[in-house]
Amino acid sequence: MTGAAQDTKDVAFIGLGNMGGPMAANLVAAGYAVTGFDLVPELLARAEEGGVRPAGSAAEAVAGAGTVITMLPGGRHVLECYRGEGGVLAAARPGTLFIDCSTIDVADARAAAEAAVAAGHRAADAPVSGGVVGATAGKLTFMVGTDEALLPEVERVLEPMGARVVHCGASGAGQAAKVCNNMILGVSMIAVSEAFVLGERLGLSHQALFDVASTASGQCWALTTNCPVPGPVPASPANRDYAAGFAAALMSKDLGLAVEALKATGTAAELGPHAAGLYAAFAEGEGGGRDFSAIINAIRERSGAEAPGGGGPEQAGA
Ligand code: NAD
Repeated sequence: MTGAAQDTKDVAFIGLGNMGGPMAANLVAAGYAVTGFDLVPELLARAEEGGVRPAGSAAEAVAGAGTVITMLPGGRHVLECYRGEGGVLAAARPGTLFIDCSTIDVADARAAAEAAVAAGHRAADAPVSGGVVGATAGKLTFMVGTDEALLPEVERVLEPMGARVVHCGASGAGQAAKVCNNMILGVSMIAVSEAFVLGERLGLSHQALFDVASTASGQCWALTTNCPVPGPVPASPANRDYAAGFAAALMSKDLGLAVEALKATGTAAELGPHAAGLYAAFAEGEGGGRDFSAIINAIRERSGAEAPGGGGPEQAGA
């Protein structure tokens, strides 16, 4: 165990947005000394109210830290933050543990970890699932890619922010698990939504389809937890006019990463890229800020008002 490992309770947190803000607050609540930085002064001020020590730059934030956590929009932000001008790799003490929790491309995650190790540090990718609700409640699932030897230390830092930490393999494996999971989610939400619209046009009530599919072979998270029609699952975003939840714009981003990974690996997938195109088109319009389950409305629009032989949402008891 290195000297740096002994003071991992000094954490630098870079990126205090929707996810990073509450995650940093949970670390403070667990007794960590957290120094934070965000490009947006208002977010830094809000984090300070939660007990985070504000820094004037990312480099300043990491200077005394044993662990550096980044929660940034995308891969280019992480790489720029790590190794750009005034980057954190050069500013941190040797042996610092770098944990990137952003959702980024597998290749970018590996490049970031390699740069960290080349600069004399230790690194893990640890993207999350659970959204803002999970981040606030300290109930995120972390998918970790790193050396086995680093795992206990990584788990100790992530524990106050999460309900589960899953070691997925070596560097990049956390992002690989995230991209595969979200490709399943994006495709299955479209499949569930298409089935509800078909049911409407066949005169089938939402509840009847739910009662069958939720206990039969069509069962999945998109149906039983995030049901795209109001009624059967009272807590799903469909019951509050699709207020996100998990915004369609983020699903579009994640499926874009899936498409890159499919190309890079020569994987002959059909549904993932098709779903990526549908979410991209939906997110570019007014759907971007809504929950991704609102994609059902795009399917209804494409289907037109009239169903041959009757049906339609009203008739089906929507
Ligand atoms: P966000 O845009 O709210 O937060 C990102 C923050 O990073 C912003 O406040 C921005 O100002 C800051 N930032 C950008 N570049 C910076 C830099 N160089 N230095 C300091 N700060 C910088 O985004 P978010 O919703 O918190 O998501 C963060 C990451 O988590 C993304 O990769 C996203 O895909 C992933 N994620 C989000 C959710 C969700 O539900 N929001 C769920 C799972 C994963």
